[in-house]
Amino acid sequence: MRKKAYKKLKSLLGARCLEDKLGRLQYSYDATQRMYMPDVVVLPESTNEVSKIMKIAYEHNVPVVPKGWGSGFTGGSLNVEGGIAISLEKMDKIVEFDKDNLMIWVEAGLANYDLQEFLEPYGLIFPPDPSSWKFSTIGGNIAENAGGPRAVRYGVMKDWVKGLEVVLADGTIMQLGSKNIKDVAGYDLVDLIVGSEGTLAIVTKALLRLYPKPEHKKTIQMVFDDMKKAARTVSFIMRNKIIPTSMEFVDRDAIMAVEDALHIGLPTNADAILILEVDGNRAEVEENAETIEALCKNADGVIRFRIAKDEKEAEEIWVARRTISPTLKRIADGKINEDIVVPVSKLADMIDASQKIAKKYELKIVNFGHAGDGNIHVNIMYDTNDEQQTKSALKAMDDIFTACLSLGGSITGEHGVGITKKDYLERQVGGDVMELYKRIKKAFDDRNILNPGKMGL
Ligand SMILES: Cc1cc2nc3c(=O)[nH]c(=O)nc-3n(C[C@H](O)[C@H](O)[C@H](O)COP(=O)(O)OP(=O)(O)OC[C@H]3O[C@@H](n4cnc5c(N)ncnc54)[C@H](O)[C@@H]3O)c2cc1C
Repeated sequence: MRKKAYKKLKSLLGARCLEDKLGRLQYSYDATQRMYMPDVVVLPESTNEVSKIMKIAYEHNVPVVPKGWGSGFTGGSLNVEGGIAISLEKMDKIVEFDKDNLMIWVEAGLANYDLQEFLEPYGLIFPPDPSSWKFSTIGGNIAENAGGPRAVRYGVMKDWVKGLEVVLADGTIMQLGSKNIKDVAGYDLVDLIVGSEGTLAIVTKALLRLYPKPEHKKTIQMVFDDMKKAARTVSFIMRNKIIPTSMEFVDRDAIMAVEDALHIGLPTNADAILILEVDGNRAEVEENAETIEALCKNADGVIRFRIAKDEKEAEEIWVARRTISPTLKRIADGKINEDIVVPVSKLADMIDASQKIAKKYELKIVNFGHAGDGNIHVNIMYDTNDEQQTKSALKAMDDIFTACLSLGGSITGEHGVGITKKDYLERQVGGDVMELYKRIKKAFDDRNILNPGKMGL
């Protein structure tokens, strides 16, 4: 059955249908480092081709997995059941730049960074800016409802996607949404597809809202003698009606790992660092920075407060946050990296729970991330050669999810469910909601060929 489908794909796409091992290997992994070989890889150049590919897959009942750049952290783009990997990499064009409405139609394979580069001369930005913006696509960002450091002020993908062109499992092409700021006609299928992890439809084009580039910004660094006090300061700032653009944090182990690796003079007596950015027009930025200084300079636990004088100093401050991931290898070779999220008011409780769990299992748990939206990157470090530690790390992860859910949090703030968290989704949303998800999935994809096995569907 599958062989017949692959033969048809080859005659449709020629050299853009990869069957050789080396070609397929390049599309067999993502940032989880897990590996599943697709049987074939197809590289369509148009929505019509995507539709034709899906018609063949549907007829022959072959699984299809949409792929962006494979930067996902949950195995969403892996061909766990073999089948077809459909990479949108050749569909990376700007389709229509609508300056009058501050909107843009782009193809789904465009890298987020390339979109930002395109917009720069026009004084515009596309606000969602995942840290992976240089190596992730708009299609992948939509499928994961990605967010970045600016999410505190500007929100996530869902807030900026106005319309979609999609191809359904049976090959039907659909246009969803519109350029209208207000549009409440019918179910909001755009919002349903954003964050659906490639399980409902393949996104081929997206209509995105744009925003004027903020005229000015300031970066602030606060060093704390206690991580929980840092966490409490985050909700203190919010309570005082200041919404920074970003509010990121790093804990003691993360500071030490970066300092050991780079020797950049990070305060080794610190238990946590908060990094804040405020942006907007000059007057607004100055006022917000002054208010934060007045509120926080002498706040409980603050041992150093600094506002960057220029871009160079701002960059120095950001290094502590941007370089953490690769330096964690210095702590241990094994890492379970989760991206839980809790209401900002519960951040200190979650940090407290994580510290207790680390003690219970005698493991190092390194926390850093997007404090301003309660999104914590929890890194459970363990020695992969130590069987006991490996088991403890998995148990610790389970405890982390339990603590997070009991605080009203979510098992994932931005990386999605994919395969790595599929067993936890029901614990969060409940059996009835899971059943509803399955019925929605069936309405879109009655043969279950679109990204099967993901999100527990
Ligand atoms: C170093 C690093 C930093 C990161 N930082 C962030 C961050 O700050 N914020 C954040 O949110 N994430 C972050 N991520 C995670 C990841 O980059 C995002 O999930 C990103 O949106 C994935 O995009 P991609 O193009 O690589 O998609 P892939 O990894 O290729 O795919 C991800 C999912 O999207 C589906 N998909 C891809 N394209 C389409 C399409 N056209 N139609 C339908 N489904 C599709 C896939 O099937 C899969 O389920 C980071 C990852 C790394 C490695």
